[in-house]
Amino acid sequence: MRQTLHCHRRFIFFLGTLLAASIFILVHEIGRIPDGHLRIQIFDVGQGDAALLMGPSGKTVLIDGGPDLSALEALGKNLPLSRRSIDLLVLSHPDPDHFTAFPEILRRFEVHALLLPAIQNDEEPYQALLAIAKEQGVPLIAADPRRDIDFNDGVVLDILWPPNPVLLEDDNDNSIILRATFGTGSILFAGDLSEKGEKKLLAMGIDVASQVLKVGHHGSRYSSSQEFLAAVAPRLAIISVGEENDYGHPHPDTLQRLAAAKIPVRITAQEGQINLMF
Ligand SMILES: [Zn+2]
Repeated sequence: MRQTLHCHRRFIFFLGTLLAASIFILVHEIGRIPDGHLRIQIFDVGQGDAALLMGPSGKTVLIDGGPDLSALEALGKNLPLSRRSIDLLVLSHPDPDHFTAFPEILRRFEVHALLLPAIQNDEEPYQALLAIAKEQGVPLIAADPRRDIDFNDGVVLDILWPPNPVLLEDDNDNSIILRATFGTGSILFAGDLSEKGEKKLLAMGIDVASQVLKVGHHGSRYSSSQEFLAAVAPRLAIISVGEENDYGHPHPDTLQRLAAAKIPVRITAQEGQINLMF
């Protein structure tokens, strides 16, 4: 009799554990399924950039791949468990703090396309990335402001920069600058564009107005000029940056310009991953 009661209790305990685990997985998954919004997650990858966009139809875009493999880990945490594909990888420019996780992501996920900047780069890590993309049969798309990317679910990636042909030499100044729009929401990803690039872009009359600005070059003092901030006129600025990094990012001058323009700032080094929803 005592034996039966003991088994009975163990069975109830087992059922309870199973139920708790199921509820945990369900809650985890509900937060990750498409829900009619554009969800934007600025990953906390230290000194670098990586941001995931998930549209209302579940289409996913990863803009940049960070300085190490933390973007891969963040994908695991933020994508639904069953999701093993990414619709588009975007490389803003071929600097290691923007694509270190890309090779591993290309190996582990079914990536439908890779959007690359117009200027190529001879260095080994970038060439290795191209080789892996080729090996995995991933189509390469050269960024061109004349060809925006429309996901047919209300999300449009408006490619603003660099022009074709390019006007400047520097990799940073040829960063892909794109504005993701959904309904009335918009976010501008400014890559590592410097003030020199910002000036050229504004001189060409390109409309950069956006609700949110992913601040250029991790808050470097040589980016986010007063004129550029006035043209974007965001309601929020986000800086993706590593804690106590060697570059002194974000620079006090940049924070001062943002404060003078009355733009609230959120910083990954202070609060970790930043989530937005349009
Ligand atoms: Zn960078």
